[in-house]
Amino acid sequence: MAETIVGHWIGGKPVAASSAARTGPLTDPATGRVTGRVAFAEVAEVDAAVATAKEAYGSWGTSSLAQRTSVLFAFRALLDAHRDQLAALITAEHGKVHSDALGEVARGLEIVELACGITTQLKGELSTQVSSGVDVAAIRQPLGVVAGITPFNFPAMVPMWMFPMAIACGNTFVLKPSEKDPSPSLLLAELLDRAGLPGGVFNVVQGDRVAVDRLLEHPDVAAVSFVGSTPVARHIHATASSNGKRVQALGGAKNHMMVLPDADLDAAADAAVSAAYGSAGERCMAVSAVVAVGASGDQLVAKIKERAAKVRIGPGTDPDSEMGPLITAAHRDKVAGYVRDAAAQGSEVVLDGRDFTVEGHEGGHWLGLSLLDRVPVTADAYRDEIFGPVLCVLRAETYEEGLALINSSPYGNGSAIFTRDGAAARRFQLEVHTGMVGVNVPIPVPVGYHSFGGWKDSLFGDHHVYGNDGTHFYTRGKVVTTRWGDPAAGAVGVDLGFPRHE
Ligand code: NAD
Repeated sequence: MAETIVGHWIGGKPVAASSAARTGPLTDPATGRVTGRVAFAEVAEVDAAVATAKEAYGSWGTSSLAQRTSVLFAFRALLDAHRDQLAALITAEHGKVHSDALGEVARGLEIVELACGITTQLKGELSTQVSSGVDVAAIRQPLGVVAGITPFNFPAMVPMWMFPMAIACGNTFVLKPSEKDPSPSLLLAELLDRAGLPGGVFNVVQGDRVAVDRLLEHPDVAAVSFVGSTPVARHIHATASSNGKRVQALGGAKNHMMVLPDADLDAAADAAVSAAYGSAGERCMAVSAVVAVGASGDQLVAKIKERAAKVRIGPGTDPDSEMGPLITAAHRDKVAGYVRDAAAQGSEVVLDGRDFTVEGHEGGHWLGLSLLDRVPVTADAYRDEIFGPVLCVLRAETYEEGLALINSSPYGNGSAIFTRDGAAARRFQLEVHTGMVGVNVPIPVPVGYHSFGGWKDSLFGDHHVYGNDGTHFYTRGKVVTTRWGDPAAGAVGVDLGFPRHE
């Protein structure tokens, strides 16, 4: 039987890879078996997608808000009806458990709902009679063709952070999904098509760096949204900016959770385990470092250990599994390396998840849960974004010491504090250097109508994604000054002075 090759979506229809196309393997992380291949676009295919998006912009960019939002409402209904199918595609290529994949779809749907109400966000501003007979209106208009480049860990949600807002604002879109789990993007494209989106408004090019670099330099791409690792985010921001494009590039993370001695330690331990090991730690908002303040550290570590030992690991398709495999064997081995080196680098290894497999699925990319205590800030396990099921616990004597530790991280995505002390929590939310903060909430991913984004090496650019920032990113401002004076007052006369408002 011929091998399936996941192709592109250009101009409102699927586009198969040519027989000579470069391709990459698709692997089921739960078995390690290659299940198909994905096409890697060449420059010509990217150019075709941008050209069709540019042509579609001609009418989509001037279409009515009613027309755009009616498509988004129809898309919302279709997405809602296909949650399970989309989640199954995510699990098949990413490996996360089905319930987690459904959660990802739900958070993407939230942004589609926000985009359905774009009418409210696109309302302009009007100042009347700023001068005699003069009014000033501020309006926002779309940019043109915009591109989205997305990571493997949320193959449906992260694209939906971008394209619903972009197309609701009147732009047309070219998505370059992760080559590791490309299929959800094509289901989204099909659902948009069924919702009545005109061909060319939403396009997908599969691929690797070749496709990305072409999007970054293409003269007809006005803006680039990127989500992925910090080194690539830095490259995207520098390259696209130097090519005159608007860019938002979200990078990696090391999210800290500070636990004060007065916290409910059971609630804190539950939260730490959920946030560190959910989706096998492959979340940009995963808690990967707990900062235990004061005397409660030993108790907290014992409670985390007890809970972590009970987490059920297995294929994402098994409803009993709470955590699935890692994305690739190479990534699993890299993560395991941090655990292997932990003791030599000064950490206490409380749980070592390396020797783990699932019966009947021995080829899967499995890794058990690892817990490292008293991790020095110099250890690789602390310094690097591991992106796996490894939780580091660091100890601090005081709130101030813990805060200084968190703020010295080069990353600034999310952070959390667990405490019963409102004043300490208030201090933390004002003093911590991260873009998103949770108070007794471990993964503070903002709701759709607030924006998502980090600080420092976790985001390059000025705009966070979705919410008001999303609308601003995908539109540009225009200010119109209008005079409709009283004709009876006659001509104003020549005046070479700089216009003043009187
Ligand atoms: P990645 O940076 O390897 O890849 C992201 C995208 O960039 C993919 O589409 C990939 O094909 C492309 N790409 C990879 N290398 C490239 C290169 N050299 N030049 C051009 N394009 C390139 O990231 P990943 O492994 O897919 O995803 C995990 C990373 O994403 C983690 O670091 C995680 O923290 C981060 N992430 C961040 C957020 C956030 O909101 N800040 C959200 C999700 C994931």
